Amino acid sequence: MVFARIAVNVPSLSGTFDYHLPPELEGKIIPGVLVTVPFGRQTVQGVVLELVSQPMVSETKPVIGILDPLPVLTAAQVALARWMAGYFLDSLAAGIDLMLPPGLGQRADTQYELSGHDQVPLTGGLSPVQKRVVELLSGRGPLRGRQIERHFKNVEWRKAVQTLVKTGLLSSRSILPPPTVRPKFIRTAQLAVHPGVAEAAMPGLGKTPATLLRRGAALRFLMKEPGDVNVAWVYAESGCNLADLQDLAERELIVLRETEIWRDPLQKVSVPDSGAGEATAGELVLTSDQARALKPILEAFKTPSLGSQPHHVPFLLHGVTGSGKTEIYIRAAQECIRHGRQAIILVPEIALTPQTVRRFLARFPGQVGLVHSRLSEGERYDTWRRARLGQLKVVIGPRSALFIPLPNIGLIVVDECHDGSYNQAEPPFYSAATAAEAYARLCGAVCVLGSATPSIVQRYRSEVGDSVRLELPKRIVNPEMPPIQVVDMRQELKSGNRGIFSQTLMNALEQVLKINQQAILFLNRRGTATYVFCRNCGTAVRCPRCDTPLIYHLTPPPISALETPPGAPAQRDLLLCHRCGYTKQVPHTCPVCGSDQIRQYGLGSEKVEAEVQRLFPSARTLRWDWETTRRKEAHEIILGHFTAHRADVLIGTQMLAKGLDLPLVTLVGIVLADVGLNLPDPFAAERTFDVLAQVSGRAGRSSLGGRVVLQSFQPEHYVIQAASSHDYSAFYSRELEYRRNLGYPPFSHMVRMEIRHAQAVKAEEEARSLADKLSSWIKSEDRRETTLIGPAPCFFSRLNGLYRWQVVLRGPNPAGLLREKSLSGDILKGSKELRVEVDPVSLL
Ligand code: ADP
Ligand code: ZN
Ligand code: ZN
Repeated sequence: MVFARIAVNVPSLSGTFDYHLPPELEGKIIPGVLVTVPFGRQTVQGVVLELVSQPMVSETKPVIGILDPLPVLTAAQVALARWMAGYFLDSLAAGIDLMLPPGLGQRADTQYELSGHDQVPLTGGLSPVQKRVVELLSGRGPLRGRQIERHFKNVEWRKAVQTLVKTGLLSSRSILPPPTVRPKFIRTAQLAVHPGVAEAAMPGLGKTPATLLRRGAALRFLMKEPGDVNVAWVYAESGCNLADLQDLAERELIVLRETEIWRDPLQKVSVPDSGAGEATAGELVLTSDQARALKPILEAFKTPSLGSQPHHVPFLLHGVTGSGKTEIYIRAAQECIRHGRQAIILVPEIALTPQTVRRFLARFPGQVGLVHSRLSEGERYDTWRRARLGQLKVVIGPRSALFIPLPNIGLIVVDECHDGSYNQAEPPFYSAATAAEAYARLCGAVCVLGSATPSIVQRYRSEVGDSVRLELPKRIVNPEMPPIQVVDMRQELKSGNRGIFSQTLMNALEQVLKINQQAILFLNRRGTATYVFCRNCGTAVRCPRCDTPLIYHLTPPPISALETPPGAPAQRDLLLCHRCGYTKQVPHTCPVCGSDQIRQYGLGSEKVEAEVQRLFPSARTLRWDWETTRRKEAHEIILGHFTAHRADVLIGTQMLAKGLDLPLVTLVGIVLADVGLNLPDPFAAERTFDVLAQVSGRAGRSSLGGRVVLQSFQPEHYVIQAASSHDYSAFYSRELEYRRNLGYPPFSHMVRMEIRHAQAVKAEEEARSLADKLSSWIKSEDRRETTLIGPAPCFFSRLNGLYRWQVVLRGPNPAGLLREKSLSGDILKGSKELRVEVDPVSLL
């Protein structure tokens, strides 16, 4: 007997289960296929992981059926799902779920039908709801729960139905509804005879002149078209209808076909043309820097690394913005395809990287699949299937594109590999950049991580040999990086300017508008988070116990058991330390310089826009922030407007920092660079440096040149200093020292555990008891280098009505401890309120 080890698709279940194969399915089931199996009293989906001869349990149930004869997962994907479950402390099912095509992932349903089919059921003695159910089923035949639901909006019908099942009037069984998305077909028409024959047939095509005219026109049109033509075109061109075409087909003058079409998302993407005259389709001659960087990557394709051979470590392509990294990716992809393999190119977001996408499309026409967060389910399904059939050579997309089932992956590129969007912010937490490395290892593929500002950890790994660093030190088009002028906003204030813009920035804006160029004004999104600082000397109010900046709260946070200064009155606004829970009242004067200019800081992009309009009434402004991008395709629309120069000033938040190439932009204004710097998070400096470096990189990308004005209340801060001199190395060495001293990554690993609860007291209690448990494990295992941060309320202490607390486990191998103590899988994820994140990128 053959048994199948199956990961069942039941959320929050980490295990695999063994089933036996009934004779009729033997030989048909191979690893990776999607099957239906009984699970408890339900029928659920599951993916076959492997076939085994010895089951884990003595009694097995049979596999019910196969949902799709082709495997839904490749062997490499199964291996990746396993690796992810182990590394990110999540369930195997969660990983597999990321890889399953949309529409296949839905849950089983129950189907109901009348037991006595041929009799009209007796409805005497039934309740009104029961009567309606019986009438519905006798009229419509068997129906699924979800279908019945539609007829009983806001009516409790399930109980009624259950009673009917008990009395035997209805029968029920678990079924798995078919996928909601199906391949899309179009009807096409084609001339079936010699044009001369068609011409001769014209006079006898119909009885009325109108029919004759329509059918004649349709035939004429098809005589001119050599191939299959969408009937919609024929209708449009000739005014005919389907009946006409069917008549022509009956006369054997034309053939009608149903042709399956791939839903192609590229048909919708209109990528704004930058018009900078850049070469897209043609081959560029590599610069010597590019050639040097590309060489070892191409070499890696020559030496396969599968099986017992040592794997290749990833490449870290460290090159400033505009240094030609994309061209390296393209060449690597060409080499990959030459070896008969496929490439995955991960980008932070398709809509924000239209240039990269366009260049790939131009180089690999007809071979590129796009994964896009705004694809319809059907489009996703088609892309998924085309990939599975080996029809796509290159897949481009955000983190989910990693999970497209390509049969033989030879290259995985992670562009802007430092970008936060590679980390899924909701469970199941994972980092696509980390997973990409592991996947490349499992596939024997070449992995290239590219960035102008690799994360501290990524860069450090290249220093210690965990990756091979390749550098592109110079921009290609305009080798001089744009000068960054730092404006000290404290001086500005002293000279009487209380506005958002410094004199320098106002002058620069005026200049740019005068010569009809464009400007970008960047605002850190985290600007809405408010910390309190002195506008006179720049001091941020910090916690006396842990030196973390205190955060301003207008309404009291959940401070049930938090330490309150003795004798402090109940206050509506107070400052809270999100690291240790310390609270104090908002001071009226600066503790350092005594100035009364101490206040919380928060600034929205509407305010900035209003200020630009006030100062420059004729300037055309465009806002690009969370609020203006909620609409579908808003990114494309806004970007399209700006590149077409229908606006002069683009005011935006984080999206501006993602690799856009806007040639007319000659001024970048950073409204307040230090926002985000003072957040109570060990990764705050790194995030701020990245965003400043990336935003500055938007200026002067063309031969027009450009400049950056950076406004700051803390110009002496090392992040501001390093960012303003385009000095990644300076930032890196300073930040690495800080991490080393405080034991943060890369000198430790972290696992963040967050508790959410509707009641403040409960959230706190659970966090404390979790911390106690962790402490006792650390002690019992004698893990002296492992420590806890917290428990403490999270910085964003309330989210969607839930209170958030966290405990961070830090040490050489915190995930290992949790795995050992099996605080993983179901136990861990069983509690809805507990979220476990390995390698968090933020402790807010
Ligand atoms: P990055 O990806 O590092 O930001 P890009 O690949 O976008 O840099 O390159 C920046 C610009 O330089 C693009 O306009 C690109 O077309 C151009 N470019 C890249 N490589 C070359 C080359 N070898 N010769 C000429 N232009 C190049
Ligand atoms: Zn001060
Ligand atoms: Zn503190």
